[in-house]
Amino acid sequence: MGFVIRFFKWLWSWRPFRRSRWTGIVVSDIPDRLKQYRVYLIWEDGQLWQVAMLCPCGCSAVIQLCVLPDSRPGWTVTMNSDRTVSLSPSVWRTTGCQSHFFLRSGRIDWCA
Ligand SMILES: [Zn+2]
Repeated sequence: MGFVIRFFKWLWSWRPFRRSRWTGIVVSDIPDRLKQYRVYLIWEDGQLWQVAMLCPCGCSAVIQLCVLPDSRPGWTVTMNSDRTVSLSPSVWRTTGCQSHFFLRSGRIDWCA
């Protein structure tokens, strides 16, 4: 079963239409329905404090990451000039699909 999941993740990362990149949008609240390839940067009270995105594996789970400078665990998010988004360090879901990936310049790099 694990092999099947890994295979589909591999397929997903190499599918020909992968030119779709994850691009950022600044919002004040997480929308009810998130879109694939959209990274929501939640800006409140004059600072960016959270990032929300759909799990890139397609399981439709919502991933929320705290990006406040002092938070632990905390992530650093960068929006590039072409609006693609980079996140560091990697994102690792400890529940559900257990996806582990990097988001670099709008591209998902799966960890083995
Ligand atoms: Zn997932």
